[in-house]
Amino acid sequence: MIQLDILAVGNLERDDEGKILEANSTSVLIRTPDHMIVVDPSTRYMRPAVKTSFKQIGVFPKDVDTVILTHTHRDHIENLDFYKGAKVYIHSGASEEVPGAVIVEDDDFEICKGVRMVHTPGHCPEECSVFVDADRHYVIAGDTVPLEDNFVRNVPPAVNTDPGLALESIKRVRRYADVVIPGHGFPFMADR
Ligand SMILES: [Zn+2]
Repeated sequence: MIQLDILAVGNLERDDEGKILEANSTSVLIRTPDHMIVVDPSTRYMRPAVKTSFKQIGVFPKDVDTVILTHTHRDHIENLDFYKGAKVYIHSGASEEVPGAVIVEDDDFEICKGVRMVHTPGHCPEECSVFVDADRHYVIAGDTVPLEDNFVRNVPPAVNTDPGLALESIKRVRRYADVVIPGHGFPFMADR
């Protein structure tokens, strides 16, 4: 049995010209029979919310043994130091170095039974999504799908290194997902 909980619901605020004013990623906890996994630790700003979520769920941050970073942008990884001792995974291609992280080269990499790290580049070269086979199929998409709107209107992230590849990656998310957890915002049903 695999359980997912949202530790913090991220946001993304832009001004009228589209310049990003504030960005904090969504942060997700996956519990499997053998592992506690956090996908995207989010920012310092979100730390109090994350702490409250751990209390409400009734588990301890120190028991998180694995952290998966969908990519290395600051608004997704700032809180990484909250999970000291956890094994950290990123996909290869990142321009930022994350000390001690395991660099995944595979296109589709099994973290543990039911949890896979799938390469979905386009927002940036290392971007990946986490595919979870729980009560239904979840995709924790990071900035492959920064906002629900990108998925609904099928538009690549405004910030991207390759818009064509970004659209291919959204397609890959669409093929698997019953529920999408975007990089910023609430989870949503894929077939809406
Ligand atoms: Zn982001």
